Amino acid sequence: MSKPRVAIFDFACCEGCQLQIVNLEEEIIDLVGAVDVVEWREAMSEQSHEYDIAIVEGSITRPEDEHRLQIIRSRAKILIALGACATIGGVNKMKNNFDLNEVKRCVYGKDAEMPHLATTTTRALHEVVDVDFKIHGCPINGEEFKQVVRDLLLGKKPVIPTYPVCVECKAKENVCRYEYDEICLGPIIRAGCGAPCPSAGWRCFGCRGLVDNPNVDAAKEVMEKYNLTVDDLKQKMVLFNSK
Ligand code: SF4
Ligand code: SF4
Ligand code: SF4
Repeated sequence: MSKPRVAIFDFACCEGCQLQIVNLEEEIIDLVGAVDVVEWREAMSEQSHEYDIAIVEGSITRPEDEHRLQIIRSRAKILIALGACATIGGVNKMKNNFDLNEVKRCVYGKDAEMPHLATTTTRALHEVVDVDFKIHGCPINGEEFKQVVRDLLLGKKPVIPTYPVCVECKAKENVCRYEYDEICLGPIIRAGCGAPCPSAGWRCFGCRGLVDNPNVDAAKEVMEKYNLTVDDLKQKMVLFNSK
């Protein structure tokens, strides 16, 4: 039986999630032995229009991005969004809080109107095409990446957690960041990372995006308990979860 052909692509991003794949080192060789990697700009010079699985990093932020993503989608049987930029728009969506022309002037100054610097409202991949699976995080968790690829190779549907980060955080017996007068997004953000941020003394910044059906009432109760408001919570969501 022929191996599945995999192609890896990127749009607007820092390529940090692809780096997480490269960082798997020996383990990636096992995975690569089970598939044919036919295109991966970060790691090889070959290119191919024929692939079964497309792994796509980055968000859609330029006029030409949408068409390119649609072509990738039309060629792939399975499309996987890799990392927060791709799954939720991530930090790139902060741009959407401002007037696009002002953003361009701020970043590019007198060159802002040059045609190759045209920009659009940032979108996650699923806002443009159908996405089959999402590997969350900024950056992704290498273990989760391996698990998703293994499941797909075995014909299984990858299981992505549908409960909030607080579950993993409490299992680690961390003192809640709210006790330190911080606003942590753990109650409404999707688990699967193992709560590394609260475990290291940081609040959760929300890089894995909102959990399915977030318990808004419970989040409100937490805010009230600590004399905070829902607006305080929303402000903390701007970094990774802007609209
Ligand atoms: S999700 Fe984070 S690490 Fe991954 S490409 Fe985007 S900015 Fe970089
Ligand atoms: S709010 Fe944050 S620190 Fe508190 S339990 Fe949830 S994830 Fe942990
Ligand atoms: S704890 Fe929050 S910010 Fe940290 S990796 Fe997990 S989802 Fe991302």
